[in-house]
Amino acid sequence: MSVTALIDADGWYTAAHRLPSPNFEARPGGIEPTLIVVHNISLPPDEFGGSAIAEFFQNRLDHDAHPYYDHLRGMRVSSHFVIHRDGRIEQYVSCNERAWHAGVSSFLGRERCNDFSVGIELEGSDRCAFEDAQYASLNDVVRALTRRYPIEALAGHSDIAPGRKTDPGPYFEWPRLQRDTQLPLQYFPYLGDV
Ligand SMILES: [Zn+2]
Repeated sequence: MSVTALIDADGWYTAAHRLPSPNFEARPGGIEPTLIVVHNISLPPDEFGGSAIAEFFQNRLDHDAHPYYDHLRGMRVSSHFVIHRDGRIEQYVSCNERAWHAGVSSFLGRERCNDFSVGIELEGSDRCAFEDAQYASLNDVVRALTRRYPIEALAGHSDIAPGRKTDPGPYFEWPRLQRDTQLPLQYFPYLGDV
């Protein structure tokens, strides 16, 4: 690629496929994101490659299409990014805005992580490894984010919502992300826990 992908002034990643979600709001006080939260998601669980994640984040999921979707009825959620198994990157919410990915959460004592974080969902589950293409795209997105915003740390959803969330799960390779991004270890306050 001759032109380096970046997060533009409006908070959109130039290399992502844009699928705008209505599920967002302004960051309180206009604060800039300082935390990146890594998740996994698959709909239906452990099935990859469909369009249900996009439909879910855009409030147009057919809740009768699968038994699992019934309990998602009425949920309004979103993430800034989804990285699919083939490395394809989708963006649903501008990084300048507050997406609804973390829920009740606390990062090193600071609550309401959605206020000050960017959420990245990897298409996957707690029960299998992620693809090389996903690590490559994740590295690209993290590097673009750290160039654009005063990012200070990365964490898993399970780190900021322990007991309630388990993603990105035991197969996510935090040391690999640290090596890929070449960010100092202090950016990974939970790395010693894995
Ligand atoms: Zn999550």
